[in-house]
Amino acid sequence: MIQLSHIEKTYDSPSGPVKALKGIDLTIERGEIFGIIGLSGAGKSTLIRCINMLERPTAGKVIVDGQDMTVMSEKELRKARKNIGMIFQHFNLLSSATVYDNIAFPLRLSHTPEAEIKKKVLPLLELVGLADKAHQYPSQLSGGQKQRVGIARALASEPKVLLCDEATSALDPQTTRSILELIQDINRKLSLTVVVITHEMQVIKDICDKVAVIENGVIAEQGTVLEVFTNP
Ligand code: ADP
Ligand code: ADP
Repeated sequence: MIQLSHIEKTYDSPSGPVKALKGIDLTIERGEIFGIIGLSGAGKSTLIRCINMLERPTAGKVIVDGQDMTVMSEKELRKARKNIGMIFQHFNLLSSATVYDNIAFPLRLSHTPEAEIKKKVLPLLELVGLADKAHQYPSQLSGGQKQRVGIARALASEPKVLLCDEATSALDPQTTRSILELIQDINRKLSLTVVVITHEMQVIKDICDKVAVIENGVIAEQGTVLEVFTNP
């Protein structure tokens, strides 16, 4: 589903170039929950943002669902990104919009008719357990509820891939568990491929099928969760 070949990313900074990724090769199969774990600064965020081209890799190829993202124009990328939902550590909701309007936002951006939007948003509210919160504003919600809105918004354009960027790092352990269960539930119900980046081992152990450990811009180790976390 996702194939990264020899990905390099070098940032220009005032103090000189920063090599964030130094040749990453990774294959993520359809329907898998794939975890990427590493310390702060290891390159996780850069890597996940290369999958949807929020960052353009300096070198290498990114294939998502058979399409090479690295050769696309901005217009082609906008279309391809509908295939890739993303959720964030700090949720990134619009504070002046209701839950309903936050979820509808990407559909309105792509000029979906309101009647069709309603047909998509109402089942998504059910799916994430917020059917009674449609008219509330983000400030009226708990952290876990905000992330549920983030998840529903990410699913609105019916993506095949869900990217989770430290999606539970701002949540308490109990809320984390319920969000991870929701992600697992969605992965099964919608046959969605999920990529999770985190610095928390427990998140990987709880929901991931496979894991890659990233250190200093390279993959130090990868395999099934059992292989990587069972020390001989
Ligand atoms: P992680 O998500 O694992 O914390 P990042 O991908 O955010 O790691 O960062 C990897 C490296 O790239 C770090 O050294 C970081 O300082 C650097 N970096 C990230 N974004 C930028 C940027 N926009 N400009 C310059 N350096 C950056
Ligand atoms: P962090 O992981 O440090 O909490 P966020 O997850 O809040 O940061 O945001 C990560 C980056 O994604 C931000 O730099 C922001 O510019 C970008 N971003 C925010 N909202 C969206 C969105 N809806 N779609 C794509 N990119 C976004």
